Amino acid sequence: RAKQEGRGGFRFFEPRMDAEAQKRRQMELDLHDAIRLGQLSLMFQPLFNLSESRISAFEALLRWHHPVRGLISPVDFIPLAEDTGLIVPIGEWVIREACRVASAWPKHVRIAVNVSPVQFSHAGLKSVILQALGETGLAPNRLELEITESLFIENPEATLASLHSLRGLGVRVALDDFGTGYSSLSYLRSFPFDKIKIDRSFIIDLLKSDGATAIIRSITTLAEALGMETTAEGVESAGQLDILREQGCSQIQGYYFSKPIPEKSVFQLLYEGEGLARLAS
Ligand code: C2E
Ligand code: MG
Ligand code: MG
Ligand code: MG
Repeated sequence: RAKQEGRGGFRFFEPRMDAEAQKRRQMELDLHDAIRLGQLSLMFQPLFNLSESRISAFEALLRWHHPVRGLISPVDFIPLAEDTGLIVPIGEWVIREACRVASAWPKHVRIAVNVSPVQFSHAGLKSVILQALGETGLAPNRLELEITESLFIENPEATLASLHSLRGLGVRVALDDFGTGYSSLSYLRSFPFDKIKIDRSFIIDLLKSDGATAIIRSITTLAEALGMETTAEGVESAGQLDILREQGCSQIQGYYFSKPIPEKSVFQLLYEGEGLARLAS
Protein backbone atom coordinates (compact mmCIF):
# COMPACT_ATOMS: atom_id res chain seq x y z
CA ARG A 1 0.00 0.00 0.00
CA ALA A 2 2.89 2.34 0.88
CA LYS A 3 4.18 2.13 -2.68
CA GLN A 4 0.86 3.48 -3.88
CA GLU A 5 1.20 6.71 -1.93
CA GLY A 6 1.52 9.87 -3.93
CA ARG A 7 -0.39 10.14 -7.15
CA GLY A 8 -0.98 6.45 -7.64
CA GLY A 9 -2.30 6.04 -4.09
CA PHE A 10 -4.54 9.00 -4.52
CA ARG A 11 -6.07 7.51 -7.60
CA PHE A 12 -6.36 4.23 -5.75
CA PHE A 13 -8.60 5.80 -3.14
CA GLU A 14 -10.51 8.13 -5.38
CA PRO A 15 -13.06 5.67 -6.76
CA ARG A 16 -13.92 4.56 -3.24
CA MET A 17 -14.42 8.13 -2.08
CA ASP A 18 -16.53 8.71 -5.13
CA ALA A 19 -18.62 5.70 -4.29
CA GLU A 20 -19.11 7.00 -0.74
CA ALA A 21 -20.13 10.42 -1.98
CA GLN A 22 -22.40 8.87 -4.57
CA LYS A 23 -24.04 6.63 -2.02
CA ARG A 24 -24.64 9.63 0.20
CA ARG A 25 -26.06 11.64 -2.68
CA GLN A 26 -28.39 8.78 -3.57
CA MET A 27 -29.52 8.48 0.08
CA GLU A 28 -30.21 12.19 0.04
CA LEU A 29 -32.35 11.91 -3.10
CA ASP A 30 -34.18 8.93 -1.65
CA LEU A 31 -34.76 10.67 1.67
CA HIS A 32 -36.17 13.64 -0.20
CA ASP A 33 -39.03 11.45 -1.44
CA ALA A 34 -39.41 9.31 1.66
CA ILE A 35 -42.34 11.24 3.14
CA ARG A 36 -44.26 11.45 -0.13
CA LEU A 37 -43.77 7.75 -0.77
CA GLY A 38 -44.92 6.79 2.71
CA GLN A 39 -41.59 5.22 3.67
CA LEU A 40 -41.40 6.83 7.10
CA SER A 41 -43.11 5.40 10.13
CA LEU A 42 -43.08 5.83 13.87
CA MET A 43 -42.50 3.23 16.54
CA PHE A 44 -43.53 3.88 20.12
CA GLN A 45 -41.60 2.93 23.22
CA PRO A 46 -43.28 3.15 26.64
CA LEU A 47 -42.02 5.14 29.60
CA PHE A 48 -43.10 3.36 32.73
CA ASN A 49 -43.78 5.52 35.79
CA LEU A 50 -42.46 3.77 38.90
CA SER A 51 -44.56 5.51 41.56
CA GLU A 52 -47.80 5.25 39.55
CA SER A 53 -46.95 1.72 38.38
CA ARG A 54 -48.23 2.44 34.90
CA ILE A 55 -47.18 3.66 31.48
CA SER A 56 -47.18 7.45 31.52
CA ALA A 57 -45.89 8.14 28.02
CA PHE A 58 -44.53 6.74 24.78
CA GLU A 59 -41.57 8.10 22.88
CA ALA A 60 -42.04 8.35 19.11
CA LEU A 61 -39.05 6.85 17.29
CA LEU A 62 -38.65 7.36 13.57
CA ARG A 63 -38.03 4.54 11.08
CA TRP A 64 -37.25 4.69 7.36
CA HIS A 65 -38.28 1.72 5.26
CA HIS A 66 -36.03 2.03 2.24
CA PRO A 67 -37.23 0.04 -0.78
CA VAL A 68 -33.72 -1.33 -1.50
CA ARG A 69 -31.74 -0.99 1.71
CA GLY A 70 -34.52 -2.09 4.01
CA LEU A 71 -35.04 -0.63 7.45
CA ILE A 72 -32.69 2.28 8.15
CA SER A 73 -32.03 3.43 11.71
CA PRO A 74 -32.52 7.10 12.61
CA VAL A 75 -28.91 7.14 13.78
CA ASP A 76 -27.98 6.57 10.12
CA PHE A 77 -30.24 9.11 8.43
CA ILE A 78 -31.02 11.89 10.95
CA PRO A 79 -27.52 13.37 10.47
CA LEU A 80 -28.06 13.42 6.70
CA ALA A 81 -31.48 14.95 7.21
CA GLU A 82 -29.91 17.60 9.43
CA ASP A 83 -27.15 18.46 6.94
CA THR A 84 -29.56 18.80 4.04
CA GLY A 85 -32.33 20.60 5.91
CA LEU A 86 -34.69 17.70 5.14
CA ILE A 87 -35.12 17.35 8.90
CA VAL A 88 -37.53 20.28 8.77
CA PRO A 89 -40.26 18.60 6.68
CA ILE A 90 -39.45 15.20 8.22
CA GLY A 91 -39.68 16.61 11.73
CA GLU A 92 -42.94 18.29 10.84
CA TRP A 93 -44.31 14.95 9.64
CA VAL A 94 -43.16 13.32 12.90
CA ILE A 95 -44.91 15.92 15.05
CA ARG A 96 -48.19 15.67 13.13
CA GLU A 97 -48.14 11.88 13.05
CA ALA A 98 -47.21 11.59 16.74
CA CYS A 99 -50.01 13.97 17.77
CA ARG A 100 -52.50 12.14 15.57
CA VAL A 101 -51.65 8.76 17.07
CA ALA A 102 -51.52 9.99 20.68
CA SER A 103 -54.86 11.79 20.43
CA ALA A 104 -56.55 8.37 20.50
CA TRP A 105 -54.82 7.28 23.71
CA PRO A 106 -56.05 7.58 27.32
CA LYS A 107 -55.65 11.13 28.63
CA HIS A 108 -52.91 10.32 31.14
CA VAL A 109 -50.60 8.97 28.42
CA ARG A 110 -48.24 11.51 26.87
CA ILE A 111 -46.28 11.44 23.63
CA ALA A 112 -42.61 12.40 23.54
CA VAL A 113 -41.10 13.62 20.26
CA ASN A 114 -37.41 14.13 19.48
CA VAL A 115 -36.57 17.55 18.11
CA SER A 116 -33.12 17.87 16.55
CA PRO A 117 -31.05 21.07 16.64
CA VAL A 118 -31.69 22.22 13.05
CA GLN A 119 -35.41 21.59 13.46
CA PHE A 120 -35.41 23.42 16.78
CA SER A 121 -33.73 26.47 15.29
CA HIS A 122 -36.18 26.62 12.40
CA ALA A 123 -38.62 29.49 12.69
CA GLY A 124 -41.64 27.39 11.72
CA LEU A 125 -41.48 24.92 14.61
CA LYS A 126 -43.90 26.76 16.88
CA SER A 127 -46.61 27.06 14.24
CA VAL A 128 -46.16 23.42 13.21
CA ILE A 129 -46.75 22.36 16.81
CA LEU A 130 -49.69 24.69 17.21
CA GLN A 131 -51.25 23.38 14.02
CA ALA A 132 -50.69 19.72 14.92
CA LEU A 133 -52.28 20.25 18.33
CA GLY A 134 -55.18 22.12 16.78
CA GLU A 135 -55.83 19.51 14.08
CA THR A 136 -55.69 16.53 16.41
CA GLY A 137 -57.20 18.07 19.54
CA LEU A 138 -54.29 16.76 21.61
CA ALA A 139 -53.95 18.74 24.86
CA PRO A 140 -50.64 20.66 24.77
CA ASN A 141 -49.42 19.21 28.06
CA ARG A 142 -49.62 15.72 26.54
CA LEU A 143 -46.88 16.63 24.06
CA GLU A 144 -43.32 16.48 25.33
CA LEU A 145 -40.43 17.76 23.22
CA GLU A 146 -37.09 16.03 23.73
CA ILE A 147 -34.11 18.26 23.06
CA THR A 148 -30.41 17.72 23.68
CA GLU A 149 -27.71 19.62 25.51
CA SER A 150 -25.96 20.50 22.25
CA LEU A 151 -28.52 23.26 21.69
CA PHE A 152 -27.02 25.24 24.55
CA ILE A 153 -23.51 25.28 23.16
CA GLU A 154 -24.14 27.13 19.91
CA ASN A 155 -26.63 29.74 20.93
CA PRO A 156 -27.78 29.54 24.53
CA GLU A 157 -29.74 32.80 24.49
CA ALA A 158 -31.75 31.94 21.37
CA THR A 159 -32.34 28.43 22.71
CA LEU A 160 -33.73 29.77 25.98
CA ALA A 161 -35.95 32.26 24.19
CA SER A 162 -37.36 29.51 21.93
CA LEU A 163 -37.87 27.17 24.87
CA HIS A 164 -39.84 29.79 26.76
CA SER A 165 -41.89 30.56 23.68
CA LEU A 166 -42.69 26.86 23.13
CA ARG A 167 -43.45 26.40 26.81
CA GLY A 168 -45.93 29.26 26.35
CA LEU A 169 -47.98 26.87 24.20
CA GLY A 170 -48.31 24.57 27.20
CA VAL A 171 -46.12 21.77 25.83
CA ARG A 172 -43.59 19.98 28.02
CA VAL A 173 -39.84 19.96 27.50
CA ALA A 174 -37.42 17.14 28.36
CA LEU A 175 -33.63 17.20 28.25
CA ASP A 176 -32.61 14.05 26.35
CA ASP A 177 -29.38 12.04 26.67
CA PHE A 178 -28.42 13.96 29.80
CA GLY A 179 -24.77 13.65 30.72
CA THR A 180 -23.36 12.86 27.29
CA GLY A 181 -22.73 16.25 25.82
CA TYR A 182 -21.20 19.39 27.13
CA SER A 183 -22.94 19.12 30.47
CA SER A 184 -23.30 22.30 32.37
CA LEU A 185 -25.54 22.75 35.36
CA SER A 186 -26.15 26.36 34.46
CA TYR A 187 -28.83 25.60 31.89
CA LEU A 188 -30.68 23.41 34.35
CA ARG A 189 -30.93 26.55 36.43
CA SER A 190 -31.90 28.76 33.52
CA PHE A 191 -34.72 26.65 32.13
CA PRO A 192 -37.38 24.67 34.01
CA PHE A 193 -37.31 21.37 32.14
CA ASP A 194 -40.14 19.04 32.98
CA LYS A 195 -37.90 16.04 32.73
CA ILE A 196 -34.29 14.94 32.54
CA LYS A 197 -33.60 11.76 30.57
CA ILE A 198 -30.49 10.10 31.93
CA ASP A 199 -28.41 8.70 29.08
CA ARG A 200 -28.20 4.97 28.57
CA SER A 201 -24.42 5.00 29.06
CA PHE A 202 -24.92 5.66 32.79
CA ILE A 203 -27.48 2.86 33.04
CA ILE A 204 -25.09 0.39 31.37
CA ASP A 205 -22.47 1.18 34.01
CA LEU A 206 -24.87 0.67 36.92
CA LEU A 207 -24.08 -2.94 37.62
CA LYS A 208 -20.37 -2.43 37.07
CA SER A 209 -19.44 0.45 39.31
CA ASP A 210 -20.57 2.21 42.48
CA GLY A 211 -19.60 5.46 40.79
CA ALA A 212 -22.46 5.08 38.32
CA THR A 213 -24.96 4.68 41.15
CA ALA A 214 -23.59 7.82 42.80
CA ILE A 215 -24.02 9.73 39.54
CA ILE A 216 -27.62 8.57 39.20
CA ARG A 217 -28.28 9.58 42.80
CA SER A 218 -26.87 13.04 42.26
CA ILE A 219 -28.95 13.54 39.09
CA THR A 220 -32.21 12.41 40.72
CA THR A 221 -31.51 14.52 43.82
CA LEU A 222 -30.75 17.57 41.71
CA ALA A 223 -33.80 17.00 39.50
CA GLU A 224 -36.09 16.62 42.46
CA ALA A 225 -34.78 19.82 44.05
CA LEU A 226 -35.49 21.61 40.77
CA GLY A 227 -38.96 20.09 40.44
CA MET A 228 -38.05 17.96 37.42
CA GLU A 229 -38.82 14.32 36.71
CA THR A 230 -36.16 11.82 35.70
CA THR A 231 -36.34 9.03 33.11
CA ALA A 232 -33.66 6.37 32.87
CA GLU A 233 -33.00 5.34 29.25
CA GLY A 234 -32.00 1.90 28.09
CA VAL A 235 -32.99 -0.15 31.13
CA GLU A 236 -32.44 -3.78 30.20
CA SER A 237 -32.40 -5.70 33.46
CA ALA A 238 -34.14 -6.13 36.81
CA GLY A 239 -30.84 -5.36 38.52
CA GLN A 240 -30.64 -1.95 36.88
CA LEU A 241 -34.28 -1.29 37.69
CA ASP A 242 -33.74 -2.06 41.39
CA ILE A 243 -30.94 0.46 41.67
CA LEU A 244 -32.86 3.11 39.74
CA ARG A 245 -35.88 2.70 41.96
CA GLU A 246 -33.68 2.91 45.06
CA GLN A 247 -32.13 6.11 43.74
CA GLY A 248 -35.51 7.74 43.21
CA CYS A 249 -35.79 7.71 39.43
CA SER A 250 -39.34 8.63 38.32
CA GLN A 251 -39.57 6.64 35.08
CA ILE A 252 -37.94 3.79 33.27
CA GLN A 253 -37.57 3.27 29.53
CA GLY A 254 -35.87 0.30 27.94
CA TYR A 255 -35.98 -3.20 26.54
CA TYR A 256 -36.61 -4.63 30.02
CA PHE A 257 -40.18 -3.31 29.74
CA SER A 258 -40.64 -3.08 26.03
CA LYS A 259 -38.87 -2.42 22.77
CA PRO A 260 -40.37 0.25 20.52
CA ILE A 261 -43.69 -1.11 19.16
CA PRO A 262 -45.97 -0.17 16.25
CA GLU A 263 -49.05 2.00 16.72
CA LYS A 264 -51.40 -0.96 16.49
CA SER A 265 -49.82 -2.64 19.54
CA VAL A 266 -50.02 0.35 21.89
CA PHE A 267 -53.49 -0.36 23.30
CA GLN A 268 -52.65 -3.96 24.00
CA LEU A 269 -49.55 -2.87 25.91
CA LEU A 270 -51.60 -0.32 27.87
CA TYR A 271 -54.06 -3.04 28.86
CA GLU A 272 -51.21 -5.33 29.76
CA GLY A 273 -50.04 -2.54 32.07
CA GLU A 274 -50.76 -4.74 35.04
CA GLY A 275 -48.30 -7.27 33.75
CA LEU A 276 -45.70 -4.55 33.39
CA ALA A 277 -46.41 -3.39 36.93
CA ARG A 278 -45.65 -6.90 38.15
CA LEU A 279 -42.40 -6.81 36.22
CA ALA A 280 -41.50 -3.63 38.07
CA SER A 281 -42.38 -4.74 41.60
P1 C2E B 1 -33.05 8.72 21.77
O1 C2E B 1 -33.99 9.85 21.65
O2 C2E B 1 -32.10 8.76 22.92
O3 C2E B 1 -33.94 7.41 21.78
C1 C2E B 1 -33.63 6.27 22.50
C2 C2E B 1 -32.97 5.21 21.63
O4 C2E B 1 -32.55 4.13 22.45
C3 C2E B 1 -33.90 4.59 20.60
O5 C2E B 1 -33.12 4.23 19.47
C4 C2E B 1 -34.41 3.35 21.30
O6 C2E B 1 -34.88 2.36 20.43
C5 C2E B 1 -33.14 2.93 22.01
N1 C2E B 1 -33.40 2.09 23.18
C6 C2E B 1 -34.46 2.15 24.01
N2 C2E B 1 -34.35 1.24 25.00
C7 C2E B 1 -33.19 0.60 24.80
C8 C2E B 1 -32.52 -0.47 25.51
O7 C2E B 1 -32.98 -0.99 26.52
N3 C2E B 1 -31.32 -0.87 25.00
C9 C2E B 1 -30.77 -0.32 23.87
N4 C2E B 1 -29.63 -0.80 23.43
N5 C2E B 1 -31.39 0.69 23.19
C10 C2E B 1 -32.58 1.14 23.65
P2 C2E B 1 -33.56 4.56 17.99
O8 C2E B 1 -35.03 4.39 17.83
O9 C2E B 1 -32.64 3.84 17.07
O10 C2E B 1 -33.26 6.11 17.89
C11 C2E B 1 -31.96 6.58 18.01
C12 C2E B 1 -31.92 8.08 18.08
O11 C2E B 1 -32.39 8.67 16.86
C13 C2E B 1 -32.80 8.67 19.17
O12 C2E B 1 -32.15 8.58 20.42
C14 C2E B 1 -32.96 10.08 18.66
O13 C2E B 1 -31.85 10.86 19.01
C15 C2E B 1 -32.98 9.90 17.17
N6 C2E B 1 -34.38 9.91 16.69
C16 C2E B 1 -35.30 8.92 16.67
N7 C2E B 1 -36.48 9.35 16.17
C17 C2E B 1 -36.30 10.66 15.87
C18 C2E B 1 -37.15 11.68 15.32
O14 C2E B 1 -38.33 11.50 15.04
N8 C2E B 1 -36.58 12.91 15.15
C19 C2E B 1 -35.28 13.18 15.48
N9 C2E B 1 -34.82 14.42 15.29
N10 C2E B 1 -34.48 12.26 16.01
C20 C2E B 1 -34.96 11.00 16.20
MG1 MG C 1 -35.30 10.78 22.78
MG1 MG D 1 -32.55 9.67 24.64
MG1 MG E 1 -30.01 8.25 23.85
